Amino acid sequence: MSTDYYSVLGVPRDASEEDIKKAYRKLAMKYHPDVATEDGAAEKFKEVGEAYEVLSDQQKRSLYDRGGDPFGGGGPSFGGFAGGFDFTSIVDAVFGGAMGGMGGSRGPRSRVSRGQDRLERLPLSLVQAAFGTTQELNIESLVLCATCSGSGAQGGSKPVTCKTCQGRGEVTQVARSFIGDIRTSSPCPACKGYGTVIEHPCPDCYGEGRVRNKRKVSVKVPQGVMTGNRIRLESQGDVGTGGGPAGDLYVEISVAEHDVFSRHGDDLEATMEIPMTSAALGAQLHMATIDAERDEATEDDSSVPLVIAAGTQTGARIVVRGKGVPKLRSKGRGDLAVTIVVRTPTGLDDAQRDLLNQLAVARGEDEELRPNAAKGFFGKLKDAFS
Ligand SMILES: [Zn+2]
Ligand SMILES: [Zn+2]
Repeated sequence: MSTDYYSVLGVPRDASEEDIKKAYRKLAMKYHPDVATEDGAAEKFKEVGEAYEVLSDQQKRSLYDRGGDPFGGGGPSFGGFAGGFDFTSIVDAVFGGAMGGMGGSRGPRSRVSRGQDRLERLPLSLVQAAFGTTQELNIESLVLCATCSGSGAQGGSKPVTCKTCQGRGEVTQVARSFIGDIRTSSPCPACKGYGTVIEHPCPDCYGEGRVRNKRKVSVKVPQGVMTGNRIRLESQGDVGTGGGPAGDLYVEISVAEHDVFSRHGDDLEATMEIPMTSAALGAQLHMATIDAERDEATEDDSSVPLVIAAGTQTGARIVVRGKGVPKLRSKGRGDLAVTIVVRTPTGLDDAQRDLLNQLAVARGEDEELRPNAAKGFFGKLKDAFS
């Protein structure tokens, strides 16, 4: 379910930094929320930004190329942009601030922004993934600063209007040139574009309005999930600056391999060894199902009968309907397919060897193939060398 950032930007894997920047610029122009009207443009814009964030950063890119998580499990810092300003720094870096003009007047930016989404991984056993589970996750995220209640200012003080920009959040320079005055606006350096200054920042959050905190989150995992599935916990991500709304927490499922069962969608596959005699004569055996590993398993659903037909060969498959993995968000279960492997007896004693010899003679299988019993081809060959 992970995104291919190269195909998001439409560049080859060996694209240069310049190519990546160009591709991003083109797509960001196209999907920018100020100009795009098509459906899904906002989502696309976010995706493009996330891809650029990774591929434009040497370290993140090489980590990503090697199959690592460029966000270190912390989720992209390029979170939702609804009300947030996460993307402006990237956009400004590429467009040199030109994007600011697209949405009309920029004005002072808000101290309050939406927090970032977070991504956490949740390892599960096959039985937990199959039947659902509730898990406690230890997460570290940004939460509202209790000292200042998110305002960022100490002891109930209020941010004051910035003297440098008079609250406009930007400063304008005018340069004379032969084609007339050229005005350039840039964010006010004194207030970083906020238009206000916190004179006495909160000592615990340094004016951010949020602090890092460890906590436990309970995650309810539905039945039938697979590796790569993500569960979204609304507003459980990072709290925004200035007490802004929290981003979401995405919990990505990772299902461990099982010793017996391998999973293919909702179906399970297993192999079962049976004795040669059972394969030849036929038998009724029992096989433990994945249900047997549930805490609440009953005798009834813990195993299924497997009818081995007389003359079963290695590779024969027996399909047990409805003993696979429960389907995600629908009724029913996949199937369990058991592949039979016939076990050749080893460590025969004299009596057993006699019995098998008798069987071989009775079936006319004693010539040629067995060097020890009758001197067939191999026996003669052996004699020739001794
Ligand atoms: Zn604070
Ligand atoms: Zn200012």
